[in-house]
Amino acid sequence: MSIKIKSMDVRLFHVPLTEILIDSLHGVHTHFDLITCTLVTEDGVEGTGYTYTGGRGGYSIASMINKDLRNYVIDVEIEKPTELKYKLEKALHYVGRGGILSFAVSAIDIAVWDIFTKKAGKPIYEYLGHTRKPIRTYYGGIDLGYTKEKLLSSIESQIKKGHNAVKIKVGKDDYREDIDRMKAVRELLGNDTIFMIDANMVWDLETAKIMCREAEKLNVLWIEEPMNPDDILSYKELAEYSNVPLAMGENLHTFFEHKHAIEIGKITYPEPDASNIGGITGYLEIADLAKKHGLTVSSHGMQELHVGLLSAVDNPGYMEYHSFPIDMYTTYPLVIKDGTIIPDDKPGIGVTFDWNKLKDYKIEF
Ligand SMILES: [Mg+2]
Repeated sequence: MSIKIKSMDVRLFHVPLTEILIDSLHGVHTHFDLITCTLVTEDGVEGTGYTYTGGRGGYSIASMINKDLRNYVIDVEIEKPTELKYKLEKALHYVGRGGILSFAVSAIDIAVWDIFTKKAGKPIYEYLGHTRKPIRTYYGGIDLGYTKEKLLSSIESQIKKGHNAVKIKVGKDDYREDIDRMKAVRELLGNDTIFMIDANMVWDLETAKIMCREAEKLNVLWIEEPMNPDDILSYKELAEYSNVPLAMGENLHTFFEHKHAIEIGKITYPEPDASNIGGITGYLEIADLAKKHGLTVSSHGMQELHVGLLSAVDNPGYMEYHSFPIDMYTTYPLVIKDGTIIPDDKPGIGVTFDWNKLKDYKIEF
């Protein structure tokens, strides 16, 4: 089965958050950027892919899809859902090798998968030979700006909603404040509930080592992005220093960045994000890479899409339930039950936008 794309519609939305969210490196988030790419085939099948950012960079991504990549998509014969990604990466390689290009290619790749799965009449997991199953999830708070009291009440409310695993932000100016918050959260959760921390890359190796020792005492499942993701040799040193597993993925935008993170940096929990690793094709590559190393694959962000993808791999890990609620603007409600979520069973990638809910946030670019 091959397809030919006849039209492309790219949209940019600035979607406000219900409250200001803060993390250590990026600071204040007031909204997130959502960039959608809707493709229609010559026989009228429509597929929508998308990517997102923390509120910066959306104009460039939307423009790259609309202006630079359009000619490599329209009227091109596509035989397999995986093939266009590589062609697009090659076409813009000189200004890409990751970065904005990875976000742009991801949106197109996801749209292509939406078309192929719809034409096959199967949800993504079935298209890839798997069955529908509940996926383990955890709540990923962007909560560094919360007072300790608000942090604890936020976690309590997420547990009431059905979560049984929680990740908090760390990376305060004084790491002793992080330790105090971590201890309070562990006390609230009890020792058996899964608990992770995420430093968003702000520690140096020395601080990361101190925090690893604290995390060991508090039975932390993983430390996410303790340091700059390019400093892969420090990851290696940290992994050899401590028993606490390391996690990383949202800032790795090529296959080889993930490969080096696993093979050199000794990352135990790869967390690719289909919105910036080359879409579903890129996500599946990292899942396969993880499997070859005896690891599970987890995910970062866009839970409404990843729930179907984690059902479509042999080695599903933990799906992050991210604090950017893209799922609020789609038609399939994610229901959290006993710390798991089950994907949509309709043909396609499992994500259908409710454009009416987004219309007030559309931005010209
Ligand atoms: Mg993170």
